[in-house]
Amino acid sequence: MNRPQNALSPAKLISNLGLKDRNTFGLDAHAELVYEVNAPEQIPAVIKEIRDQKLTWRVLGGGSNVILPPVLPGATLLMNIMDQDIISSNANAALLAVGAGVNWHELVVWTLENNLPGLENLALIPGTVGAAPIQNISAYGVEVADYINSIEAFDANKQTFVTLHNDACHFAYRDSCFKQNPQRFIVTKVVFKIPKTWRARVHYADLANQFGEHSSPSPEDVFLAVCKMRTQKLPDPRTIGNAGSFFQNPIVSIEQFETLLKVHTDLVSYPDATGKRKLAAGWLIDQCGFKGQRMGNVGVYENQALVLVNHGGGTAKDILVLAKCIQDKVRKEFGISLQIEPNIF
Ligand SMILES: Cc1cc2nc3c(=O)[nH]c(=O)nc-3n(C[C@H](O)[C@H](O)[C@H](O)COP(=O)(O)OP(=O)(O)OC[C@H]3O[C@@H](n4cnc5c(N)ncnc54)[C@H](O)[C@@H]3O)c2cc1C
Repeated sequence: MNRPQNALSPAKLISNLGLKDRNTFGLDAHAELVYEVNAPEQIPAVIKEIRDQKLTWRVLGGGSNVILPPVLPGATLLMNIMDQDIISSNANAALLAVGAGVNWHELVVWTLENNLPGLENLALIPGTVGAAPIQNISAYGVEVADYINSIEAFDANKQTFVTLHNDACHFAYRDSCFKQNPQRFIVTKVVFKIPKTWRARVHYADLANQFGEHSSPSPEDVFLAVCKMRTQKLPDPRTIGNAGSFFQNPIVSIEQFETLLKVHTDLVSYPDATGKRKLAAGWLIDQCGFKGQRMGNVGVYENQALVLVNHGGGTAKDILVLAKCIQDKVRKEFGISLQIEPNIF
């Protein structure tokens, strides 16, 4: 392909790249055309080329929240922007600008090593920093949105770089304006605001059980506890393909929750920030008898019904057929519609 020369080196182009090792489900997939983006300044030219050739496109981070078809047509952008700077620090907070390609867990470790605690509840979540705001990653009672100051992105609709401050991102449970507008924003950098006053956030049941009411754990204690629990509960994608939670926890009105509770007295649920009730999707699926079940090459993880797994050789189609069976049964038993969490490419 002929491309205009300019001072900045263009994004690297690769044809027919295998993605089996770049998606945690371990699905056999390849991308027709890949752009490896190392600097934000490369993006306008990449998008222009894609538009000129009328190609479809998408961004792929670490591949830990996607379901890939055997062939990804058009262009796939791999984000390799790796800079990481403390841009300011005062008595109240530090501002940290981190490139979209940085590994999320490595960032969490780095913040602890540099005495900037806050992200430890989100330890061991796979994937990249650039993907963290897309579904507003959350775990053990903490959302990444709590620590985001702003997002630097390329707006493909407006053909320009934009800075979106936290309140413009419309963060909600597993949601954001980025998720709502696929193929519009390419996140290049996340600016985190880490307050200097730290308090342990161990109200989430599993953590509360570990530490007890009157203990005062350090950030490292919380980090180690989170890592230990996650390692025990979740399957390691290097051993068995999966994308973490496959369904979102459904959020229902208090009235619907109370009606369900009358019939299902052991219903597992949590308070929701919006005053509604969040039901444990894993519990609903478990009640329908799916835990540990296998359907061909795919199945439901034996220790956690919320996780669908690829036993080897499974395809996107196999996973979606199993997901539909689960959705149908849960709807029939509880009148609840489960939403798939990973992005279907
Ligand atoms: C074992 C396991 C445990 C998990 N646990 C959790 C958990 O506790 N909490 C949680 O919230 N999630 C969890 N996840 C899901 C996943 O790790 C997160 O959603 C993560 O942020 C995805 O990052 P990624 O880089 O792999 O993104 P990908 O899977 O590559 O992409 C996810 C989506 O983000 C888009 N995207 C990626 N990068 C960019 C970018 N720079 N700009 C614009 N769009 C982009 C993609 O187009 C896609 O739509 C888990 C997954 C696994 C496998």
